[in-house]
Amino acid sequence: MSSSLRSRIAIPIIFYLSIVMIITGVATTLYLNHLYLDSTYKNLLSNAKILASLLADPNTQVTAEDIKHWSDSLGERITLIDRSGIVIQDSHKDPFQMDNHLNRPEIQQAIKEGIGFAQRHSQTLGIEMVYVAIPIQSNQGQIIGYLRIALPLQQLRNEQKSLIGTLIASLVVVIAITMLLVIHTARHATRPLEEITRSIAKLSSAGFTSDWKPKLSPAEHSIEIDHLIEAFDYLTEQIHAQIQALEQERNKISAVLQEMTDGVLIIDREGVIQLANPAVAKMLNLSDQNFIGKTISQVLSHPQFVESWQRTRDSKETQTSLIEIQPKKLYIQCMTAPLETIAQGTILMLLQNLTRQRYLETVRRDFISNISHELRTPLASLKALTETLQEGALDDPPAAHKFLMQIEKEVDSLSHMVSELLELSRIESGQVPLRLKPFSPYEILQKAVDRLGIQADRAGLKVVIDCDPNTPQVLADPSRLEQVVGNLFHNAIKFTPAGGQITLSAKPQNGNVLFCVADSGIGIPPEDLPRIFERFYKTDRARASGGTGLGLAIAKHVVEAHGGYIWAESIESQGSKFFFVIPQA
Ligand code: ADP
Repeated sequence: MSSSLRSRIAIPIIFYLSIVMIITGVATTLYLNHLYLDSTYKNLLSNAKILASLLADPNTQVTAEDIKHWSDSLGERITLIDRSGIVIQDSHKDPFQMDNHLNRPEIQQAIKEGIGFAQRHSQTLGIEMVYVAIPIQSNQGQIIGYLRIALPLQQLRNEQKSLIGTLIASLVVVIAITMLLVIHTARHATRPLEEITRSIAKLSSAGFTSDWKPKLSPAEHSIEIDHLIEAFDYLTEQIHAQIQALEQERNKISAVLQEMTDGVLIIDREGVIQLANPAVAKMLNLSDQNFIGKTISQVLSHPQFVESWQRTRDSKETQTSLIEIQPKKLYIQCMTAPLETIAQGTILMLLQNLTRQRYLETVRRDFISNISHELRTPLASLKALTETLQEGALDDPPAAHKFLMQIEKEVDSLSHMVSELLELSRIESGQVPLRLKPFSPYEILQKAVDRLGIQADRAGLKVVIDCDPNTPQVLADPSRLEQVVGNLFHNAIKFTPAGGQITLSAKPQNGNVLFCVADSGIGIPPEDLPRIFERFYKTDRARASGGTGLGLAIAKHVVEAHGGYIWAESIESQGSKFFFVIPQA
């Protein structure tokens, strides 16, 4: 567990200092004890010596009162013992009740060494005593007895105790003062570090941009602290520069990802999506765009996406698959590659929308097959006609004339097709300039009816114009717009059985004019509806009709060149409605 620097400095110092002080205290106490005992012995000895010299004088008569008197004034027990160990006088006890003292350790030592010391339990008084005994010698040097002076040990102990108490009290005071001093010093020493830590914490929360310098008093600036501040200052600048560089990089990458039309996903080894750009949701028409943290199977419900991811995860190899999503009719190329540089098992998934390419490929293929088909029929018929002529029909003038007429019709239809194709490509490439002028929608519809009304009549169809003559004018090239209405009207006549009705209408709508050519004819199958504006596209039912399949393609290009748009609605066997919108003048 980590602890503060302050306590790391203070606690060991206080600990070691306390140990040193306690050891010193104990040693001092032991020494003082020894010194005290020593001085007590010396004191007892000097008193004993004085009394012994007094007792050695043969003229001195010592009574029990004298002994008692000396004992009281010295505060010590005095015992007088004769050579044989019999107690003659004792300041604290009746000598007749006392046993022979010759074997007392202090007396034995005094006999052998001249001075006897002992610290022991007194059999007479029943307490711990300190004894000093010396022999009493006559003038001739003969031992006439022994003098023993004693002091209760308890008295000594009490004095020692008060000495130790004073010592412990002063030790405690010294340790307490030391503790306060050490804590104060440690706090003073660590304050700059705490201030620096606070400033650094603020700095990192501000993204290494703010001025982080800690507020330190001059006294808190030491060489080490100044070096630390300098080093950190340098580090901050470096980090700031690196963060900026990283942010720029990240912004670039995020801008690329945001704008990319391809979908990008980063998936971890558990299948959880770590990153996804907006193109994914857009491409797959997903309403929920919040993918991060969800699993791939939750987001990309099509099993092939999950399979592709699993294969790459297991094989660590790049996989590419083309996924067709029904009913959205989407063709998505899914590329999965291992991205081990980020983390083990991470996989990059790239989604490319190939629906448009697929569609264009189909259109191109159909276009070629349609144009071949359109050319083959008249060419085959021309070939048959010329062969018939060669094989002898030339000699039959009426038949030859009939065949020539047919040849002319086929050539006309071919040249009509070629001129329509040419016109379409000229409109597409913008080579046909539009001569725009304000023009009445009603007039356009009227002119179409004037031109094609007879055909409709012959086909047994009723034609209705549903348009207010005062409908706002459109800004258009009249001849081109007549061509559009003409094409739609012509189709309506072609694909409506006798007895049906064709309605041509125009009405203002949001600053535009909405034109409509509606018929009650055969209608268009739903699967063909999105494709009828393609070049040469014909529904199966229209294959036999004489058209080229270019009329609607031309109409679409003309309308779009005017800044408008065209579409069709139809219910099979009930009729079709072709709408187009042209801006008002
Ligand atoms: P076409 O010269 O064959 O009429 P278009 O481009 O004008 O060529 O039309 C393309 C195809 O669209 C037609 O062949 C037909 O199948 C379908 N179509 C166009 N108009 C109608 C309509 N009013 N009713 C039914 N089908 C139509």
